[in-house]
Amino acid sequence: MKNAFHVMLIPTLGCPGSCKYCWSSEEGSPIMPIETIHEVVEWLKDFRNDRVTFTFHGGEPLLAGADFYREALPLLSEGLSHLTPEFALQTNLWRLTPELAEILAEYHVPIGSSIDGPEELNDYQRGEGYFEKCMRGYEIARAHGLQVRFICTFTCHSVEYKEDIFNFFLKNGFDLKLHPALPSLRDRNPEKWALAPEKYGELLVYLLDQALEHMGEIEVMNINDLCRAVFTRRGTVCTFVDCMGSTFAVGPDGSIYPCYRFVGMPEYVMGNVSDRPSLEDLSRSDAWKLMHRFKEYVDWVCSECPHITYCRGGCPYNAIAPTGGEIRGVDPHCGAYRRILDEITERLNREMYESAGMRPGGSRARRRRNAKPGVMDLVHRIVLS
Ligand code: SF4
Ligand code: SF4
Repeated sequence: MKNAFHVMLIPTLGCPGSCKYCWSSEEGSPIMPIETIHEVVEWLKDFRNDRVTFTFHGGEPLLAGADFYREALPLLSEGLSHLTPEFALQTNLWRLTPELAEILAEYHVPIGSSIDGPEELNDYQRGEGYFEKCMRGYEIARAHGLQVRFICTFTCHSVEYKEDIFNFFLKNGFDLKLHPALPSLRDRNPEKWALAPEKYGELLVYLLDQALEHMGEIEVMNINDLCRAVFTRRGTVCTFVDCMGSTFAVGPDGSIYPCYRFVGMPEYVMGNVSDRPSLEDLSRSDAWKLMHRFKEYVDWVCSECPHITYCRGGCPYNAIAPTGGEIRGVDPHCGAYRRILDEITERLNREMYESAGMRPGGSRARRRRNAKPGVMDLVHRIVLS
């Protein structure tokens, strides 16, 4: 699990891919100079005292090249050793070379990549040739002992093939993390690929059933996170905690933002690493104030929701970016969160009653031997094992 303090480094907003639902820009976008990493080290030396995770994100972060990582990783690791930095990288793997893989392996950098299912379906959404290039990088990563996990973006198109997609991940031995396609902020038809909240909710329930049926064969990361959150009553991924103040992103020019999703949007710049702002300095920025107004809004508007402590209104970016910075509601995926959180809660309560020999009405019951695994079994696996 990631540390509570998370800094995302965005070496470039450029990307060689052309996924149809993506907001990123063309390959020629500026690249972060190594001096900015020096500035990051100086900025964070006295910023906070807790352990930090650095995630290289983009755009496509490998466009920064091997020399960048050869310098950046030791600079961060040694310059901030008191924060015991850990690293992660989110990449489409196209530009992974054996040279880069060696550097990443030296610093035990786990990789998150993206694939949307079988080749034909994937390339329909992500562009001709994506699958093959990604798998080529995957082989290099594996040959160097790097851990790779795939995020699968479900769109309104691909959700109709959810069985094929799940079976693809299962058959290939890949764990599954899903991401719902969001309305594009840069498209004339923003909803074209977006996954509607009702469909997203149904998909999560389907994946819950699949995760239980195939327990031990595949991990569905979102389902694990959601079950853990309901059981412990605490969110553990950024969407389900108050991310403001513990997550930051640094853009290619050293600008500091609340999260990678805001990078490139000037109205969300909180400061610049070259000025070495303190937490207090950042708290005076408009972006910080807006994020905190969202937190207060959630406390008010979600106050009657039984899931508020481990949902926290979802992702503030999803809520405020599409409205140009106005807080008009919580994360539009609220309906999906509510659907799956209700489902997990009901199943957990029922199973707990049953295992205690009681039914909700008070009558005795006994759990069947050889019963299919339930949510409680999954919770045992992920929380108590
Ligand atoms: S804005 Fe959304 S994606 Fe970004 S850190 Fe917060 S919850 Fe996560
Ligand atoms: S499920 Fe919806 S209402 Fe409940 S806390 Fe989350 S966003 Fe708020």
